[in-house]
Amino acid sequence: MKSGRFGVVAGLAVALALAACSSSEDSGAESSAESTSASTESPSADVADAVTPVVGHVLDDPVPVATTDGTTHLVYELEVTNVLPQDVTIDSVKAEADGKSLLTLSAADLINWTSMFGTAKPGTTMGPGESGRVWMDVSIAKGESVPTQVQNSLTVTLSTPMLPLLPATVVTPLPPMTVSGSAIKIAPPMQGAGWVDANGCCTVTPHRHAVNPIDGSFWVAERFAIDWVQVDAQGKLFNGDRAKLESYPYFGTDIQAVANGKVVAVLDGLPEQVPGASPTGLPLDEYAGNHVVQDLGNGHYALYAHLKTGSVKVEAGDELSAGQVLGNLGNSGNTDAPHLHFHVMAGPDPLRANGLPYEFDSFELTGRLASLGAVDELATTGGPAPMQSAVSTGTKTDELPMFLDVVTFPS
Ligand SMILES: [Zn+2]
Repeated sequence: MKSGRFGVVAGLAVALALAACSSSEDSGAESSAESTSASTESPSADVADAVTPVVGHVLDDPVPVATTDGTTHLVYELEVTNVLPQDVTIDSVKAEADGKSLLTLSAADLINWTSMFGTAKPGTTMGPGESGRVWMDVSIAKGESVPTQVQNSLTVTLSTPMLPLLPATVVTPLPPMTVSGSAIKIAPPMQGAGWVDANGCCTVTPHRHAVNPIDGSFWVAERFAIDWVQVDAQGKLFNGDRAKLESYPYFGTDIQAVANGKVVAVLDGLPEQVPGASPTGLPLDEYAGNHVVQDLGNGHYALYAHLKTGSVKVEAGDELSAGQVLGNLGNSGNTDAPHLHFHVMAGPDPLRANGLPYEFDSFELTGRLASLGAVDELATTGGPAPMQSAVSTGTKTDELPMFLDVVTFPS
């Protein structure tokens, strides 16, 4: 299944050190006088400015989305940088709103939810000047109000305290995060039973890992992307030779527009990949394979990717109706088994955009695979794979399927 993953950015040449305000070395008497004046004023009594060993921000403010676990999720990423010339370790990360805790990631949790840019080592220690990323997934129970502002903070430990400015352990608040908007409501991109949500929301999957550095910025186009594969009535993904497209009964399934809207980009003619291995050496514009991008309105764009070679039935500029067939499920681009990669994003470029949440208007949740290992089992042996018990199955309205869900879409 498509990973779309890039390596982390290595070798950030940041070498910051805390320094006292040294305006006298700056640009002369005028600015020096201003600085002196400012520094001698008493700080406001209710503001406790503090030096922080880490700075950071939210990569893109989240839009809440209802999911099949019966909760509302806030899905976002924190970019953090150690500004000290020494190691700093993240002990925990918290999200709070209105004085209530929404999420706490412990040091053990953070092993899976954190990645440092400069090193491949596991763990949450940032070297001098090193940056990293924390993936966040806040889940809000039904009946609880969704906050409009969230305070994220990190508790970090310095390898060498720098008293009196920095003790050994420092709580570092990040700038407040705004929560606004609502998920777009759309129809499913195909029909029928047995569709498995691989790499979907909200845990850390290859899609959430795909925070791509493009044109000088990070983009999280695949934040809510789902790789859709289909199992048959026996729970099998393929029968026979894993490396043959014809072993996958759902290869060639009709893919339909999820809403009314104009086609803004089309690519077709790229070859099918051989299932069972990811291709290497693809140029960036071939990662999505044969694909269609559709403008859904209000700044939402849908990507239908990895379509079957020669199957795309629409052209840029075509006005599509919801349910209209636009192509067929295939295995082109960065993919190791036939699937539809689908996501909604805030711009027309498949990778140079931030992902937006979406909710399917109606579908039936019929089961849930047991684990990530079950997905691997499907992909390697064809299955059937173990399923979870005690899943709240049934008809779902205006919800986003979650990673491992097995669903039936209306015919
Ligand atoms: Zn994908």
